[in-house]
Amino acid sequence: MTALLSLLDLCKRYRARRALDGLTLDMAPGEALALLGPTGAGKTTTLMAVAGLVGLDSGSVTMAGQDVTEAHPATRDVAMVFEGFNLLPALDVKGNIGFALRSPAFREAEAEIASRTGRVAELLRISHLLDRDVTTLSGGEKQRVAIARAFVRRPRLLLLDEPLSALDLKLREGLRAELRELHARDRTTMLYATHDYHGAVAIADHLAVIDGGRVRQRGSLAEILASPADMTVGRLIGSPAMAFFAARINGDHVQAEGIDLSIPLAALGGAAGATREVMLGVWPEDITLTPGPGGRISAVDNRGFEIAVQVETPAGSFRKALPEGQGFTRGDSCRITLRAGAGFLFDPATGARIPRQGGRP
Ligand code: ATP
Repeated sequence: MTALLSLLDLCKRYRARRALDGLTLDMAPGEALALLGPTGAGKTTTLMAVAGLVGLDSGSVTMAGQDVTEAHPATRDVAMVFEGFNLLPALDVKGNIGFALRSPAFREAEAEIASRTGRVAELLRISHLLDRDVTTLSGGEKQRVAIARAFVRRPRLLLLDEPLSALDLKLREGLRAELRELHARDRTTMLYATHDYHGAVAIADHLAVIDGGRVRQRGSLAEILASPADMTVGRLIGSPAMAFFAARINGDHVQAEGIDLSIPLAALGGAAGATREVMLGVWPEDITLTPGPGGRISAVDNRGFEIAVQVETPAGSFRKALPEGQGFTRGDSCRITLRAGAGFLFDPATGARIPRQGGRP
């Protein structure tokens, strides 16, 4: 199938700063993809490059097989929702939603505009606001109107740049569910940039992890959990993220000193080799904490139905979620054990995964 969007080796510098550094990414038609990365990773610049709002130093943007790298933004049939809303204060809510459809590019009939506006407003639960002045809306309501305005155009690609981060948790969760619902109905191809792991997983079918202006890994959450490409991916995926321990390959074992962890190298897919330093990365869900020596609980946060403990060890610190009532309190000692076969080895100098032997990822 022809990709709906193909970004090939995009590079963009702002003076000395590299915003995009060889970014390559494909999207299939109808896909909902989250571009997940920390602040400054290049998410907004990527979206702007797709929309044609920023010039590239090199690389190409192809949509449905057509090179649009130099194409004017208005010809790309892409809608972008920014965090800052950009609503038109002179128009009421329905005027804002239908604005693009009345523009020379669309010139839709009024009956069609009214019907599409009504439908999208219903899906986003803003039907009761259609006659309101946009300046009187709350932040959450404005965000819904901004999303409705983009969806109503039925663009071939919808770009969402952190559109929910200003909302409180409850509003954010509601709107995430509605975005998913909109996507399920219309199958609008959707690229959703965020630094929020929960949001990315809630909205998208697939994740593209971005850092340093490059896509580090692209896949479903299950694929990424089964085979994280590098330490950056481990730090960005999960809640809490991957735990890292400074370790050493010693004969046919991997040992993390000071916490009494010694794992047969074969269990991690490795073969015995020269003694070397490695980083052992483990998803917190694969770690069991029991009373005993090894680590120390330095903080306990209440997360509602669960707690998150911060654990300090001589080989590294990490966070782990536990069901409420686990009995750990600040200052307690804990023994660390890993699920058999869990863990990935990384090169401490480059952060890259040390591949498993024998073909397994
Ligand atoms: P955030 O989550 O904070 O919005 P981001 O992942 O969207 O971050 P970008 O806004 O794409 O990241 O920025 C990537 C890099 O390019 C950053 O280092 C940023 O400071 C820099 N940058 C972006 N826009 C400009 C600009 N107009 N002038 C100079 N530097 C810029």
